[in-house]
Amino acid sequence: MAGIYIHIPFCKQACHYCDFHFSTSLKKKDELVNALTKELELRKDEFNNTTVETIYFGGGTPSLLSNDELQFIIDAVYKNYKVSENPEITLEANPDDLSKDRIIELSKSRINRLSIGIQSFFEDDLKLMNRAHNANEAKTCLEEATKHFDNISLDLIYGIPGASNEQWLKNIEMALSFNVPHVSSYALTVEPKTALASFIKKGVIEDVDDEQAHEQFHVLKEKLEASGFVHYELSNFGKDGYFSKNNSAYWQGKSYLGIGPSAHSFNGKQRGWNVKNNSKYINAIAQNELPIEIETLTQTDQYNEYIMTGLRTIWGVSIKKVEENFGIVFKDYLIEQSEVFINQQLLYIDKAHLRVTKKGQFLCDGIASELFKIN
Ligand code: SF4
Repeated sequence: MAGIYIHIPFCKQACHYCDFHFSTSLKKKDELVNALTKELELRKDEFNNTTVETIYFGGGTPSLLSNDELQFIIDAVYKNYKVSENPEITLEANPDDLSKDRIIELSKSRINRLSIGIQSFFEDDLKLMNRAHNANEAKTCLEEATKHFDNISLDLIYGIPGASNEQWLKNIEMALSFNVPHVSSYALTVEPKTALASFIKKGVIEDVDDEQAHEQFHVLKEKLEASGFVHYELSNFGKDGYFSKNNSAYWQGKSYLGIGPSAHSFNGKQRGWNVKNNSKYINAIAQNELPIEIETLTQTDQYNEYIMTGLRTIWGVSIKKVEENFGIVFKDYLIEQSEVFINQQLLYIDKAHLRVTKKGQFLCDGIASELFKIN
């Protein structure tokens, strides 16, 4: 199984916290769409005939493309790759792009999953983050989307400065009221060189409070699990049958092709990343060149990667798999390094799988890095 990720590097405006690759100028949109389809063609042999089971439009803001443009790209995937009978095709979309007519139009396309960037139902939060939509648009788009799509995920951000735990709980309850089967939720992080980092430095916005983010993570977990969601990855909750196939494949180390500027690719042994610049990307593709840098992962890199992704998921880290894929030295190292965290009740071993406890979950990335091998 393999997946194709397609990066659409355009946004209406810059959210204050964002460090993804995007441009707020749509001048090169047509050229870029053509370049994406050409990159798909140039790389058609990379999967060696493996079946594509997921197609994911991420960004940026993919919902800024028209349905015809999206269809044009999907057609290029079908033309150049072997696609499974019923692939998961996800579109990341922002509420301000999802009018009633647009949702109906999308529901008639091959796109069968929407991932909607709600982030918050509160006006203050949306303004602080400089989102392009307002609270009303967040609600009305979900009312309409749930009438036409069964497979919907929404994104929520916690740990927003000034947002109390009560307000956060109201956000979750509002999300649940739309009966969506999947929620992705991330702590607001202050990335260097973002507007948010600069506002915090100048004292215009108060700093994020890690302790509060930690509390809000547990409010989220408890509320969603009590409502029938499975916490299947650190930031992802899904009802049975609605886990993101695209992201699950990524966490389980399956191959994926990243198309578009800044997109990453992985084939099990090598990782590649495309140039993070729209013009350079378009020019290279026009000359039949792939603007990609490739790194071959060492055995240690592959082990570290498996520990990082495995610990974040309910599937955990298979000790047997570590021994089979990396050898006894890595397995013994893992067992030895884990001991201190097992004693602190942050990790546990169940059926030969290493997993994080409830207490360890929020600290998962830090724990994983302590289990990494250096060489
Ligand atoms: S819409 Fe998404 S990609 Fe665009 S600026 Fe906001 S967070 Fe970043």
